[in-house]
Amino acid sequence: MHEYGLVQDVVSLVLQRSPKDGDRRVACVRIEVGEFLVASQESMEMAYEVLTRGTALEGSRLEVTQVPGRARCEVCGFEGSGADLGEGLCEPPAVLLCPSCGAPLLVTEGAGIALTDVQLQDRGRSGASGPDPGGR
Ligand SMILES: [Zn+2]
Repeated sequence: MHEYGLVQDVVSLVLQRSPKDGDRRVACVRIEVGEFLVASQESMEMAYEVLTRGTALEGSRLEVTQVPGRARCEVCGFEGSGADLGEGLCEPPAVLLCPSCGAPLLVTEGAGIALTDVQLQDRGRSGASGPDPGGR
């Protein structure tokens, strides 16, 4: 599935950036996704849960903010967001077609993905997990 590849990239990026000492775990990862890239925030959150299993990110949350896109038709001059396209916006990353003349639209915004924030758990909070008995 399209979303899995995208989320996999986010997961590896966060793993690269997060502290290696294991002292503080990631609590929440925030990303912004253009509406022309991914139609379903839910499927990305589900993919995140699956892909972080067994990694340092296991148990953390992915918060997806969908940012509105803009697409322009160079044939007739139509310009609009996903809502304006109506049924023309099918499953991304399909080619978007102009609702008035049917020409392929040029996507100017909303086809990207950005990591906006990584929140770590508070250091002071003693959670349920005690010192690791080791042995792995
Ligand atoms: Zn057009």
